Amino acid sequence: VTITTAIVAPRLIAAQEQRKVVVWSEGTANVDAVSKKVYPNDINFAIAEGLKPLASQGWEVISASLNDPDQGISESRLNNTDVLIWWGHKKHGDVNDDLVNRIAARVTGGKMGFIGTHSCHFAKPFKKLMGTRCSWREYVDDGTSAEIIVKLPDHPICKGVKNFKLPKIERYGEPFAVPEPEAVPLDGIYTKPNGQTESARMGLCWTIGKGKVFYFTPGHETFNDYYLPEVRQIFVNAVQWAAPK
Ligand code: ZN
Repeated sequence: VTITTAIVAPRLIAAQEQRKVVVWSEGTANVDAVSKKVYPNDINFAIAEGLKPLASQGWEVISASLNDPDQGISESRLNNTDVLIWWGHKKHGDVNDDLVNRIAARVTGGKMGFIGTHSCHFAKPFKKLMGTRCSWREYVDDGTSAEIIVKLPDHPICKGVKNFKLPKIERYGEPFAVPEPEAVPLDGIYTKPNGQTESARMGLCWTIGKGKVFYFTPGHETFNDYYLPEVRQIFVNAVQWAAPK
């Protein structure tokens, strides 16, 4: 009996310490010819690939899609997910309201963190958590570039990240109709094709109920943002920041 206990106990501890991040997308970023070249396996796969460093720290990384059974997030999966990352664009309306309510309840109950990125600003779970319109002033894909500015270098989400440039970005113009964030670790300066510059928030943090929420602006489906080392470091950091403690 003593020997069995000694063998089993470490496994039990390991199981309890295993944490899970689910990267969800709607399956539309690998459909048209241009985005398919950038994200042949969709955006969830590219973000999940960037989270590989978390595996050595006890994290399980799962890719999920709207096209999967239970829209990628069954009740049992949701109930042991520590952080949910969400990318959507064209199919926000297809996501079941019941699933949206369960996601929001898990976040506000302090059981799960939520990370939304780019066109997720209009995703149902994000809007439910924010409780506002979540619109930007404009959305322009005109060859604008951007510099992402590490505004709060001591913030956990900025660990190991320095200012970096995105040669092309879809410009999301301020104001962004969300509640006042508790922190804005990342800012950005857009440079338009005519040379004019405009600043906008790029990484915003909230605590909603008892749960952490992070939004990251870049991530248009025809640009390779989710492969960039700086962006991948931001997501690795954000998962650890958003996870319930
Ligand atoms: Zn976009």
